[in-house]
Formats: sequence, C-alpha cells, structure tokens
Amino acid sequence: MTTTVINPATEEVLRTVELLDAAAVDDAVARASSAQRRWAARPPAERAAALRAFAVVVDAHIDELAALEVANSGHPIGQAEWEAGHVRDVLQYYSASPERLSGKQIPVAGGLDVTFHEPLGVIGVITPWNFPMTIAAWGFAPALAAGNAVLLKPAEWTPLTSIRLGELAVESGLDPDLFQVLPGRGSVVGERFVTHPDVAKVVFTGSTEVGTRVMAGAADKIKRVTLELGGKSANIVFDDCDLERAAATAPYGVFDNAGQDCCARSRILVQRSVFDRFMELLEPAVAGVVVGDPTDRATEMGPLVSKPHWESVRGYVPDDAPVAFRGTAPSGAGFWFPPTVLTPERADRTVREEIFGPVVAVLPFDDEADAIGLANDTAYGLSGSIWTENLSRAMRVSRAVDAGNLSVNSHSSVRYNTPFGGFKQSGLGRELGPDAPLAFTDTKNVFFAVDPA
Ligand code: NAD
Repeated sequence: MTTTVINPATEEVLRTVELLDAAAVDDAVARASSAQRRWAARPPAERAAALRAFAVVVDAHIDELAALEVANSGHPIGQAEWEAGHVRDVLQYYSASPERLSGKQIPVAGGLDVTFHEPLGVIGVITPWNFPMTIAAWGFAPALAAGNAVLLKPAEWTPLTSIRLGELAVESGLDPDLFQVLPGRGSVVGERFVTHPDVAKVVFTGSTEVGTRVMAGAADKIKRVTLELGGKSANIVFDDCDLERAAATAPYGVFDNAGQDCCARSRILVQRSVFDRFMELLEPAVAGVVVGDPTDRATEMGPLVSKPHWESVRGYVPDDAPVAFRGTAPSGAGFWFPPTVLTPERADRTVREEIFGPVVAVLPFDDEADAIGLANDTAYGLSGSIWTENLSRAMRVSRAVDAGNLSVNSHSSVRYNTPFGGFKQSGLGRELGPDAPLAFTDTKNVFFAVDPA
C-alpha cells in the first residue's frame, strides 16, 4: 500500500511513499532489539561520538532537509531551516549524555549501594504532521543517547524529512537497524508499536484523542508512554504591559506555522480596560503577517498542511462567525487560510476546541483572578504567555496558570535545553532539557554486601 505526498502550497504530487504493514513492524522490532544490545554494549564515549557524527551529517544537509519540509509541509523556508538546525542541535546536546548518565551511590549499612540508568530497549516514536523533524528528534536523540534503539513512525501527510533523517543516520555510521524510519498508517504501524511486546516505550505526539487510545493500549503491557498532546493556550494581556509590543507580537504567538502549533496562543485574553486599544493595535499587526509562497524568504506564514485539514479549520469560521478582522492569503492552488481574529462568547467552541489553524479568539477579562480562571478553563495545559510590567503579577500568574510552558513578555516555548510538556490533557511526561534521557531508562538499584573485617 502507498500514500501520495502532496505539496500543500501548490497541490502538486511530490512523491509516493510505501506504507508498511504490521509484519514489517515486527521484523523491524526484531532487528532493532539486537542492534540495541550491541549499541548499549559500546563504550559511552563511542556512543557519544556516533551521535556527534550524526549531528555533523545533519548539519551538512540543512538546506536539503529544509527544502524537503518546505515542499512537504509548506513551512516558510526560514522556519524550515531553523527546524533542520534544531535537529542538529538536539543531537549535539544529547551526544553529551552517554558519558554523563551516571547513577548514584547511596550511603547504606552493610555494603555499597549504587543505581544504574538502564536503557529500556526498543522505543517507538510516533510523530504528528505539524513539526515533523523537530518532534522526531526530541524522541530519537535522547532515546539513542540513553542506549536504546528507535523506530520512528512519521505522520502519513509528512514523512519525507523523517525518511531522509533515517538515511542520514546510516550515512553517519549508525547501525541501520538501530534507528529505523517506518512510514505507515497510525492504525497499523502506530498501533503495532503499542501492542508489540518488545517495544518498551511509546513516545506519542499528536491529538489528545489518539493519545488517550495509545495510553489505554499501553496499559495492557504496563508499557511506558510519553504523551505530547493538544493545546488551547492563553496569551494574557494585562493593562500594565507594553501594549504596543503585546499587540505587535500576538499574531506570531498564534499564526506561526499557520497556527498548526500545539503551543499556539489561540486565546488572547485582554484586560477589559485596554481591550479596544489592543484591538486597534492588533488589526494592522494581523494585516502585516506575510502569507504566501513558502519558498520566498519574506514569507511568514504558509498554507495549511492538507485539504482535509483546511476543511476542518474552515468549519470553525462559518459565514456568521464573529470575525473582528482578517489578514490576507493567496488564492488559487494551495490550502490557504488567512489569519483570522474572532471575538466570540466564552462558551463558544472556538474558545474551547483546538482549531490548529490560523484562527484566534480574543476575549476580555476583568481582573487578575478572572484572567487566571479563564486561562485555566480548558481541558488542556500546554503553553501560554503573560504580558505585564509588574514582576509580582508575572510571578503570581505564572504560578497560577496550569500549563507546562509559559513565557512572560514573549511567546517562546521551545528550547532544546529546557523541559517541554503539558499539564492536564496536554500530555504526560516531559521532553527536551537535561533530564530527557532519563525518561528512556529504568533505574536499577544494586546493593553489594561488604563483609566486615
Ligand atoms: P494525530 O493524533 O491524528 O496523529 C499523530 C500521529 O499518530 C500520526 O503519526 C498518526 O499516524 C498516528 N496515529 C493515528 N492513529 C493512531 C493509533 N490508533 N495508534 C497509534 N498511532 C496513531 O495528530 P495530528 O493531527 O498528526 O497532529 C496534530 C495534533 O498533535 C494536535 O492536537 C497538536 O496539538 C498535537 N501536537 C502536540 C504537540 C506537543 O508537543 N504537545 C506537538 C505537536 C502536535
């Protein structure tokens, strides 16, 4: 069985990709299991050097990987280059881990007690289509660093950069069975990761709906899971903030990657006393977002990833939607959707559901308590921003918002050296940061009895 990969900016067919079946997954797991044992037995410095070599090869192919992502996902070229560079950085960062993954020596009576961080074995990484190569790297780099083998299943619509990364790994000298990319349907390859007894952990990034299923399936075998799921994050704008900056940056906090970002600040909450002024400032900022050809360096926002996804986003903006204003988008071929600003009621589904497109809901709030209540009035808890010049308020609100990744006076969410993950139904576990390799190990405690003299 095959799938046809389409350029979302032109609707042209890029390539046909073979989709694997469950038997192919079983074969890959068997080969990965033996490769993992060989990998874990290699000295830590050798494993570190192998990951550095992989990073070097990725670095030499940044332009190629970026061009593939532009074609496959419609990401603007500057963004795609950042993503390819991020893969290299993540590999480089975790290449330091094999030599630093030390356990503890714990003082006990009658002997010596030490802990070891043992690799889990074969890890299944399932990725979504919105940031194909970066999210893949968040899984495979720390997992390999901790001594595991990795099977990566990219999303059906966007497999090309993952497939290329698999080839580059082999080119860098990694055992072809250690890191394998397995394109396929979620219901086939993804499900088999969940049910296969020799896949020790599943790292799933995607919708909360499928993540729930993955977790339920994993429970059957007490299989470890990390889940990075949906979001409906709040950008909270207080009346004491630099309102010009808050308004000028707000579009990029939600419309980056055409809003197909789990961290998108898709609810802008604005203190009522400055609401009208904020909207006056927001309108030209939204109009200024450059939407168009992703190969053009001036472009800030590309198309949506596919026709079905375009239809899903379109469904949130019916003709009678409370549209305050919109930006521009090209017409003609491509899955284009203009940046869209809504002013709905609090209970509206555009306020509650993850749209995953360039659609933002702007809502007024009365005071700090109301802002916190509104920000937390969601099943999700991934990200968010707080705009205020009052340091105490920034502290209070950032502690009170139930979300895993917050930024004050900015919209930054992801750095490879800081932890990333969600509260509530946005996920379970953390990726990135210094501790990520530990999530791919089990702690073993060994007591050595020492005979008294
Ligand atoms: P999705 O849940 O439809 O698919 C994600 C992946 O799961 C795909 O590879 C898909 O093939 C696979 N899959 C589908 N059914 C499966 C099954 N039964 N068993 C195992 N795997 C299965 O999500 P999507 O539409 O590709 O991505 C968008 C979603 O991802 C959004 O909700 C977004 O918020 C979320 N996301 C979260 C993060 C995060 O870090 N929290 C990052 C990016 C995207």
